[in-house]
Amino acid sequence: MEGKIALEEHWESPDFSATGSHDFTDAQYFEAVQKRLQEFDKRIQDMNKNGIETSILSLTQPGIEGITDPERAIKLAKQMNDYIAEHALSKYPHRFKAFAALPLQDPKAAGDELERAVNELGFSGTLINGYSNIGDENTAQYLDEPQVWPFWERVEKLGVPVYLHPRIPLPNQQRIYEGYEGLLGSAWGFGVETAMHAIRLILSGLFDRYPNLTIILGHLGEGLPFTLPRVEHRLRHQRAETHGNHQKAPMEYLRNNFYLTTSGVFRTQALLDTLLEVGADRILFSVDYPYESMEEISSWFDSCPISENDRLKIGSENAKKLFQLDSVKVEK
Ligand code: ZN
Repeated sequence: MEGKIALEEHWESPDFSATGSHDFTDAQYFEAVQKRLQEFDKRIQDMNKNGIETSILSLTQPGIEGITDPERAIKLAKQMNDYIAEHALSKYPHRFKAFAALPLQDPKAAGDELERAVNELGFSGTLINGYSNIGDENTAQYLDEPQVWPFWERVEKLGVPVYLHPRIPLPNQQRIYEGYEGLLGSAWGFGVETAMHAIRLILSGLFDRYPNLTIILGHLGEGLPFTLPRVEHRLRHQRAETHGNHQKAPMEYLRNNFYLTTSGVFRTQALLDTLLEVGADRILFSVDYPYESMEEISSWFDSCPISENDRLKIGSENAKKLFQLDSVKVEK
């Protein structure tokens, strides 16, 4: 399919190692990924080969969220947003859009930077890499916590989506992975951490206070189309004060406040479950480049057994509506 829009597509500046450091990834794979994170011309060739018209770029995880000093986070977020605006957006305005990197360590500064990025640099929203470190590597701030709500008020006013992207669990919560460290990242830990973070948002009542918020989750919703119905079913028997202040059933928020992308997943069975739970209007094509291959995800998506109407919606129409991209004109 031509004209696809992909929106979990990562980048990194040579000035800041946004990928952080860990030792469970194969060194050769990591080196190749890092090279591709930092360049844009070869990326466009790959997009052309695989029918991808536009990529919405985001600073790779853990990015700004992993910085323990708020002042440094504020400075670097601005620098990173300016860098991608200059090196990708202004050079290839029809092929690249961007999600802002934000210093959530200071929710007021994060709101200011989001407004600047959207209003002055033409960004499409923000991608947030999970919890933000506050002061040290074992202290986290999650996005449903009260000090972050003023940020959400500004997001709703701006009317832009927030992509909630994974990062690995806090170091002091990794006991269960001991001996199996390869599971900490994208293989498993990413999904568990992000699904739980999304459940916190759902149960907190955030979407009752700000009903027009739009959250995007990758990896077909980090398993939530399969697992959230049981969460909803079992919470009926848990004491009310143990599961937040939400007014509606959890699945209702997943269907109305979330979009789920195909990033990193090329499994028809999983897509069909997602279609049955949230419908084709709430699913968006994505790759998760350069961690995943554009070719692998695109060739699956272009031929998987769904209706052509659904393929068009998921591949491009939903994203065009969500990001108001109707006027995109491709110059290859
Ligand atoms: Zn990703």
